[in-house]
Amino acid sequence: MGPRVADSGAFPRTADLVIIGGGIAGAAAAFYATREGFRTAVVERKPWLGALTTAVAVACFRAQWDDPDFAYLMVPSIATYERFAEEIGVPGYEIGLRQQGWLFATTDPRGLERFQQWVEGQRRLGITDTELWTGDEARRRFPWLSPDVTAATFRARDGWLSPHEVVYGYARASGAAFLLETEALRIRVTGGRVAGVETSRGFLAAPRVVIAAGPFSRRLAATAGVDLPLFLLRRQRAFVADPAIPPDAPMVADDDTGVYWRPEAGGAFLGWGLPEPPGEPQDPVPADPLFPARALEGAARLTPLFREVAARLTRDRVSVAAGQYTCTPDGKPLIGGCPPVDGLYVLTGDNGYGIESAPQAARHLVDVLTGRLPEAENRFRVHRPFRPTGKKVL
Ligand SMILES: Cc1cc2nc3c(=O)[nH]c(=O)nc-3n(C[C@H](O)[C@H](O)[C@H](O)COP(=O)(O)OP(=O)(O)OC[C@H]3O[C@@H](n4cnc5c(N)ncnc54)[C@H](O)[C@@H]3O)c2cc1C
Repeated sequence: MGPRVADSGAFPRTADLVIIGGGIAGAAAAFYATREGFRTAVVERKPWLGALTTAVAVACFRAQWDDPDFAYLMVPSIATYERFAEEIGVPGYEIGLRQQGWLFATTDPRGLERFQQWVEGQRRLGITDTELWTGDEARRRFPWLSPDVTAATFRARDGWLSPHEVVYGYARASGAAFLLETEALRIRVTGGRVAGVETSRGFLAAPRVVIAAGPFSRRLAATAGVDLPLFLLRRQRAFVADPAIPPDAPMVADDDTGVYWRPEAGGAFLGWGLPEPPGEPQDPVPADPLFPARALEGAARLTPLFREVAARLTRDRVSVAAGQYTCTPDGKPLIGGCPPVDGLYVLTGDNGYGIESAPQAARHLVDVLTGRLPEAENRFRVHRPFRPTGKKVL
């Protein structure tokens, strides 16, 4: 079911708030902003919502974090996803939520010690339901794990969902105007204040503009004279179909290499953040046909059954897609105002976990928009000291 979409004859000339980008960030922001009373218009270049980065996500979420900023984003977001129908006020609305758990595993001889510190860090933040396992305990639960696994962490209520349904749920429930096939060309600034957005369908006047354009955010901010500290990394997702892949498996992440997989519709999604130089924004993002072979080989280290899967794979049972992570120097998002331009805001810098953080990130933005959260106290403000995060993310 689609959102309320303004047709070509209904291009509004004004709004209280214009959001550029109809991915998960823009759709969530539209929902929470309209709930605060902002007359909101979302401009999206494509004919559909959620069709760029959001469409290629593996869409997993976890509360296994030992950094307070990530815990602040993820824990309430997961709680929102657990009662999404109620949140948007559409009884029975489904988002494909699967809480099959998330397993981090290692073959490091000192892995148990390493994971113990990490789990203790989570407990200090109130995340008390992550289990710490030896290799044998992990294999008892998941017999398909490699004999080389020495330690694992597991949280049963982690999992994944369908971003498409989240995007359309937020959009449909928001009451915002979604202007599809409408490209934001330039943000107009007059006398240091935002005046509106020049689009492919005309000028849309608004005192507040939010850039939620994923990989294109930096380019759009530059049209207002603002340089955002963002860089882009291509990331790929392979799908393989094979009946031997256990459908009840959790998300399995190799904590030593970063390769990960999870079950999906008769097979598995596999991902791996292989080293690549930062790139320019792209749409579409070209994928490497050799990626599935590399990911299968990588995943077989902890899950040896992927060797058999690779050996019998045929071309009709494998596919690959690519998107771009919009990254920041400290791995945390940019959410807030863009001084010195009054009225310009940003909601981006997903660093590869924009699905799992979307509800809370959008509420955080709306707290800034309403003035409830002063910029000086905003932990994700655009101009902040950037310290690198400890544990690497996938
Ligand atoms: C392979 C891969 C796996 C991932 N796995 C996960 C995961 O397991 N968990 C997780 O939480 N996240 C994951 N992510 C990250 C997640 O996909 C992103 O964080 C999220 O989709 C970002 O959403 P967004 O709305 O910020 O950006 P996007 O989805 O890119 O949306 C931006 C929108 O802006 C529009 N736009 C751009 N420029 C303009 C313009 N000038 N005018 C109008 N519209 C414009 C675009 O068309 C697009 O629709 C993954 C990403 C990749 C690539």
